[in-house]
Amino acid sequence: MTLHAPYDSDNIFAKILRGELPNVTVYEDDVALAFMDVFPQTSGHTLVIPKGVEARNFLDMPPERLGDYMERVQKVANAVERALSPDGIVVTQFNGAIAGQTVFHLHFHILPRNEGISQKAHASGEMADIAELESIANKIRQAIR
Ligand code: 5GP
Repeated sequence: MTLHAPYDSDNIFAKILRGELPNVTVYEDDVALAFMDVFPQTSGHTLVIPKGVEARNFLDMPPERLGDYMERVQKVANAVERALSPDGIVVTQFNGAIAGQTVFHLHFHILPRNEGISQKAHASGEMADIAELESIANKIRQAIR
């Protein structure tokens, strides 16, 4: 059911886009906003969301908007790589609650992965220390090209 439903403009990411909730931004332009996940599964877990479109998930995204948005996802993933030098990076995305989606505004996760460090559970656990997120975000911001 949650795969196809009306867009709820009160979802957390819509509120972040309207400036009603704070976020630790790493990149923003007219196409996308990228910010730190406050329940990071790994250090440097970043989210990239499209702006100016009511897309709950990947299937909803107007195809003509996808190219520009995916360019931003890649731009931020490259910056995460340059900033944090992980051993690998997971770029992922969930569609519908059964698939693991908890916030219904399209987003891609960028998860740096390092040998010997396991990934924490999805969308759970302790909220990160904001000062720590700011410090990581600062490195990523400086690595955006
Ligand atoms: P999903 O489960 O929809 O794929 O991903 C939603 C992500 O948003 C989760 O990784 C979760 O930790 C993150 N998240 C939930 N609430 C907030 C919030 O208020 N701020 C930020 N920055 N991330 C959030």
